[in-house]
Amino acid sequence: MNEIPNCPSCKGENTYFDGSLYVCPDCAHEFNPESVTADATPDVPRDSNGAELADGDAVTVIKDLKVKGSSMVIKRGTKVKSIRLTENAEEVDCKIDGSSIVLKTCFLKK
Ligand SMILES: [Zn+2]
Repeated sequence: MNEIPNCPSCKGENTYFDGSLYVCPDCAHEFNPESVTADATPDVPRDSNGAELADGDAVTVIKDLKVKGSSMVIKRGTKVKSIRLTENAEEVDCKIDGSSIVLKTCFLKK
């Protein structure tokens, strides 16, 4: 038997599956099994090629990037030695020329 998640609204355990959605009879909340699964799985940061990124990975910038709030431009081909993952799977922290910079993972290549 499939495990049925508790109601995300009232945490009730009487939820059942009606064929497309989970339904909670206690508070009449309906929820989508896919959204529940997505919430339970932490996003893995991936580079432009879809490779998983991890703390300390070395990456290359694949596009000229303007740094917000400064005149600095990170040139395409810049090597970043050690990235640090953030809570946002689309961004990583790194240091370039001594400055802490947040980079979008879609502009990085491992
Ligand atoms: Zn409920």
